[in-house]
Amino acid sequence: MKTVTHWINGKPFGDDSGAYGTWGSVTDPATGEVTAQVAMAGAEQVDTAVAAAKQAYATWSTSSLAHRITILYRYRELLNARRDDLAALITAEQGKTHADALGEVARGLEIVELACGLGTALKGETSTGVSSQIDVASIRQPLGVIVGISPFNFPAMISMWMFPMAIACGNTFVHKPSSKAPSASMLLAELAAEAGVPDGVLNILHGDEVAVNALLDHPDVAAVSFVGSTPVARHVYTRASASGKRVQALGEAKNHMLVLPDADLDAAADAAVTAAYGSAGQRCMAVSVVVAVGSAGDALVSRIAERATKIKIGPGNDPTSDMGPLITKAHRDEVADYVAGAAAQGADVILDGRGFTVEGLENGHWMGISLLDKVSTDSDAYRNEIFGPVLCVLRAETYEEAMAIINGSPYGNASAIFTRDGGAARRFQLEVETGMVGVNVPMPVPVGYHSFGGWKDSAFGDHRMYGSEATHFYTRGKVITSRWPDPAETPAGPDLGFPASH
Ligand code: NAD
Repeated sequence: MKTVTHWINGKPFGDDSGAYGTWGSVTDPATGEVTAQVAMAGAEQVDTAVAAAKQAYATWSTSSLAHRITILYRYRELLNARRDDLAALITAEQGKTHADALGEVARGLEIVELACGLGTALKGETSTGVSSQIDVASIRQPLGVIVGISPFNFPAMISMWMFPMAIACGNTFVHKPSSKAPSASMLLAELAAEAGVPDGVLNILHGDEVAVNALLDHPDVAAVSFVGSTPVARHVYTRASASGKRVQALGEAKNHMLVLPDADLDAAADAAVTAAYGSAGQRCMAVSVVVAVGSAGDALVSRIAERATKIKIGPGNDPTSDMGPLITKAHRDEVADYVAGAAAQGADVILDGRGFTVEGLENGHWMGISLLDKVSTDSDAYRNEIFGPVLCVLRAETYEEAMAIINGSPYGNASAIFTRDGGAARRFQLEVETGMVGVNVPMPVPVGYHSFGGWKDSAFGDHRMYGSEATHFYTRGKVITSRWPDPAETPAGPDLGFPASH
């Protein structure tokens, strides 16, 4: 059986003497079969990885920007050449379709490209002559060892949100991907080494909360980037902050799509189906709630149902599949329970995906399409992130009622409005309490040079992912005030008054 080890100091780490830590299993969600054993780090392996990153920091942080950027350009080329292989690894362990996995890699590459252009973002500011013979320069310097912790649903993209920017800024990195889909990160590390990223600059540690907590507590870790569920995001934020680390921790989502009666309902239905069921709903930017206003409701639900029944569900490596399985059997059962619960709590079940399976692959983690109408805001299906192919439709009489529903959610990741009314769209983008907003765009994932992140229980910490906020997160400011007097000048002598500009 395949084994996935840690990656420390530029090579696979571990040997038969047990230096790996313990072992976990990786399952193919389409077959339900265990396909690999993955090393699970304990405190000892965490120490080794952090020590490697700390040692590499001394040289990497003082290497020239030109050197770092040249390596990142080479990395970009290697990733581009191997995007198909990366996508295949994602599909085999996460389950999403190959086309979807290629899309994930493309969005990750965007951030590598952003990192290649980091010179502009890192260039600092200078003011000359702020006082007599005094100049002031603001510069930004790297932090040290950064830890990145990522979820199962984007095994490559979210890693690529984090380490390329962090190492371009001069930091070194220890990445802890989800042990449910660990292989893509190993290829990312191998290609980084091939591109010339020095040993110890990028390390991969697999594991669970044992590894995470050891990383959060480690005195040689300067900052933590996290993406995952809200309870873990809150834990990571609290625990790492308590030991003085800088933390950004992105959590769960319940993304609402508000549809006004004047919207193009065919376009809105296309968008809702794409955004709700793509990647089997296992996207933090998935639309999981449609709030239909007034007469939009019935017309929209019938259009969504008509389109959703045509979705072909099957293994991700079958090019005819539109949607793959869910990550684990346990998660599949949780999603099914939400559908059962919603029916018991008064929703109309328009489409019920619970009985779905794929012939010959009955042990796969299959869940068909579910569409729930007239869902109440009190129901469990509305209140919790389901993270599966289940779309909840809520009805509202007015825009104001719909907005009150959306802003009443504890989550604030993303939202969208579908309308032909520019005034309503403008009002929505100003009033809605989410970090990302779409206007006739269902999944408003910002491009690389803007930043990604939510509000409220969807994100903890002050910095968003990528864009200029990443440069800020992965560096700290220093302001240098200097004076170079004319050597011929006679010193003025001591003056104990408060220094004033003149
Ligand atoms: P998760 O929270 O279970 O795991 C995320 C990471 O934390 C993994 O590396 C995991 O090993 C580790 N972890 C898990 N439990 C832990 C614990 N108790 N203590 C310390 N570490 C722990 O999330 P997941 O199931 O892998 O991913 C899906 C979740 O991620 C969803 O809730 C989704 O909304 C969220 N997500 C959010 C965004 C965003 O940008 N806001 C993006 C993608 C995914």
